[in-house]
Amino acid sequence: MKPVKPIRKFTVRAVVPGALSALEELAGNLRWSWHEPTKRLFEHIDPELWRSSRRDPVAFLGEVDPARLEALAADGAYVEWAERERAGLREYLAEPRWFQSLGADAPRLVAYFSPEFGITAALPQYSGGLGILAGDHLKAASDLGVPLVGVGLFYKAGYFSQSISPDGWQQERYPVLDPDGLPLSVLRRPDGAPVQITLALPDDGSLHARVWKADVGRIPLLMLDTDIPANTDELRSVTDRLYGGGGEHRLLQELLLGIGGARAVRAFTELANLPAPDVFHMNEGHAGFLGLERIATHIAEGLSFAQALQVVRAGTVFTTHTPVAAGIDRFDHGLVERYLTSSLLPGVEPADAMALGVEPAADPATSAFNMAVMGLRLAQHANGVSKLHGEVSRRMFGDLWPGFDADDVPITSITNGVHAPTWTDPALLGLAEATLGTGDSEHADWQSGALSDGEFWTVKRRMRLQLVEEARRRLSAAWSEQHGGTQPPQWVARVLDPDTLTVGFARRVPTYKRLTLMLQDPDRLKTILTNPDRPVQFVIAGKAHPADDEGKRLIQQLVQFAQQPELRERIVFLPDYDMGMAELLYPGCDVWLNNPLRPLEACGTSGMKAAMNGALNLSILDGWWAEYAGDDYGWIIPSADAAGDAGERDALEAAALYDLLEHRVATRYYERDGDGVPVEWVRRVRRTLATLVPELGADRMVRQYVERLYRPAAEQAGRVEADGDRGARELAAFGGRVRKAWPGVHVTHVESGGVESPHVGDELRLRAYVELDGLAPDDVTVEVVYGRSRVDESIEGARRVALQPAVPDAAADTSGPRLYTGTVVLDRAGAFGYTVRVVPRHPLMLSAAEFGLVAVAG
Ligand SMILES: *Cc1c(COP(=O)(O)O)cnc(C)c1O
Repeated sequence: MKPVKPIRKFTVRAVVPGALSALEELAGNLRWSWHEPTKRLFEHIDPELWRSSRRDPVAFLGEVDPARLEALAADGAYVEWAERERAGLREYLAEPRWFQSLGADAPRLVAYFSPEFGITAALPQYSGGLGILAGDHLKAASDLGVPLVGVGLFYKAGYFSQSISPDGWQQERYPVLDPDGLPLSVLRRPDGAPVQITLALPDDGSLHARVWKADVGRIPLLMLDTDIPANTDELRSVTDRLYGGGGEHRLLQELLLGIGGARAVRAFTELANLPAPDVFHMNEGHAGFLGLERIATHIAEGLSFAQALQVVRAGTVFTTHTPVAAGIDRFDHGLVERYLTSSLLPGVEPADAMALGVEPAADPATSAFNMAVMGLRLAQHANGVSKLHGEVSRRMFGDLWPGFDADDVPITSITNGVHAPTWTDPALLGLAEATLGTGDSEHADWQSGALSDGEFWTVKRRMRLQLVEEARRRLSAAWSEQHGGTQPPQWVARVLDPDTLTVGFARRVPTYKRLTLMLQDPDRLKTILTNPDRPVQFVIAGKAHPADDEGKRLIQQLVQFAQQPELRERIVFLPDYDMGMAELLYPGCDVWLNNPLRPLEACGTSGMKAAMNGALNLSILDGWWAEYAGDDYGWIIPSADAAGDAGERDALEAAALYDLLEHRVATRYYERDGDGVPVEWVRRVRRTLATLVPELGADRMVRQYVERLYRPAAEQAGRVEADGDRGARELAAFGGRVRKAWPGVHVTHVESGGVESPHVGDELRLRAYVELDGLAPDDVTVEVVYGRSRVDESIEGARRVALQPAVPDAAADTSGPRLYTGTVVLDRAGAFGYTVRVVPRHPLMLSAAEFGLVAVAG
């Protein structure tokens, strides 16, 4: 029999007795998602229901028995407890925190745009790492008191729910969310009317959106939603799913996120009486259109496109998250051209807007419109998300700054971090509180003698057991769902074991992450899993993008491998990876496995969360692990960079993985003292918690964003906007002038002296003749670039020294080449190389490469 399906669902909000109004206030701010005491307050009402409502206070309050609430309302101690938590929340929201100590020149307000936000499983508006990072960014900004507003979209069905068919194929479902059953409120004007954001579309159409607001601690998060009656049916579905549709659907989402988002921020700050943001942060290219909207507003105030561009760039931060081409949005040229009209962006010449997305060296008339390229052109401040990814990005986007070395490319890096209060298991927090005297497990002294190895190991076992039980529950439910509601077979209740070395692997399933590397040699893996003395078990999870059949095939391979009767209790694939599962998965693992194709993992954050929960990492030296790997923190799987082809590389790296697992990891894990405690293992884990984990927090990351990007961006915005945008006007005029003159700028001739038989300590004297073609000497820097010369003619570890005009300006003959001179001290033995180059110079430039103009000798 088919169950009756409702045609419409809505949520009736609970009537909570007045004495317990604190519960509603606490449920209304998503700070509960990382505040354990608040969760305990809810759990106390009905522990069983709390679990079954997936620890979501709003859903929970909607289902709890009103009689139980009435009883608690009469329970003085409970009411007092709730009031205490409410007072704690209010204090948290108001008190000065780290940011408030920074002084008056700190940014006024940062607007942080992201296509996805992963804050809690109860608000599924994320697909993976990018969104969870954005959620962690908001939470850490809240904890640090950073004035920030998040901007995203509200997707009616989020990403998707995954189930697996009996033959291992991924199935997608799109359960529709009811915003009324979520801790969201509609942004309204003082008269009660909802704020409506409107975008002009081609052929006199328009797209309307309402704005939901969530409170993430101190941080408001605005989410635009097109599912309102003002739209045609087709346009109502613009925000139906995250990363759901094809080109045009996706373009509409991104126009809404960028342009609509910037308009929503304006409406919100006006209503809330907040200052306008001085910093705009694009979390990946998807929100890039926000720069165009801001350009349009400055044009309306009287600036030209070039001047407005300088204002916008000064205050914009762009973060790139992927070196994988498929991860970057590129739209058909004609499609974007059709949408970027002057009704959408009044005052902006469509051709100027289109030029921002043209890929380097492509034909401007037909080039795909590249959102990352546009992001980099609109942002004077840019970064990758780990040191290695910064290097990779400087090479990958280097063509945007032709003639410059990768080292000159103005993209820095800030390594991602994860929000410890969200991601640390309560059992570990409890242990720190009970034995180390602090509830801040991220900064506790985990190596202290106050905690014994035995106690630690007991708690870790409990965390593993919790995962084992959860896996059995999930597999049992999945079995029943697959088999028409029948009881699962006995073995499902036996999968996994709380005393076996547990390896976790969970992430999205793009090809480069190599979900199935472990299956390179199935017999070898089988031997490792079923070793009678040193068994190993694997817990695996991950979603493939709905359009990615290759990814689905990988999942199928893995599921089919794990279905073998002799293996199915040792290796499991858990369907529907999400934050709710992640919260139990990381704490339950002893080892976190990551084997991407180096260097395609920009950062990877799951290994950080695992480390935070007492796991060691077993990983390719990529992303964050490339800068933080240490002997006690886990193991490095060597990359077979010299392999002949992809197949050979996979085989070599898999063989190394098996060797490590069998001969290093499992042997160490099962090395026990008389009490059954793996003393050396525990030592490593405790050292990881004490010395590595404090580096991995989102608090470290957000501080770095504030100090290294937000603050300079706010200052730079202040400089170009001062005095009626004088700086922006000057910089735009300067850019126009040097661009025009540049074809005539040359280093015509370089002479050197003092180096007939050079020794360390000698001086190299340089004389360079430079043709400036009408530019003033102050408009340029003439500099020698020198360092160790390599066989490929490049200069390693290049350093630069400016040369000075030999004749003062007033006395100079401006008709021919100008002479510049200077010296370099040879302070190192070995091969030496140098060249001379000319670059534009202006006090408001932050990087010599900024205009992409350089003239090099020879
Ligand atoms: C942390 C996390 C991710 C990101 O993991 P990566 O290692 O960066 O791929 C994806 N999904 C969930 C549910 C997570 O918690």
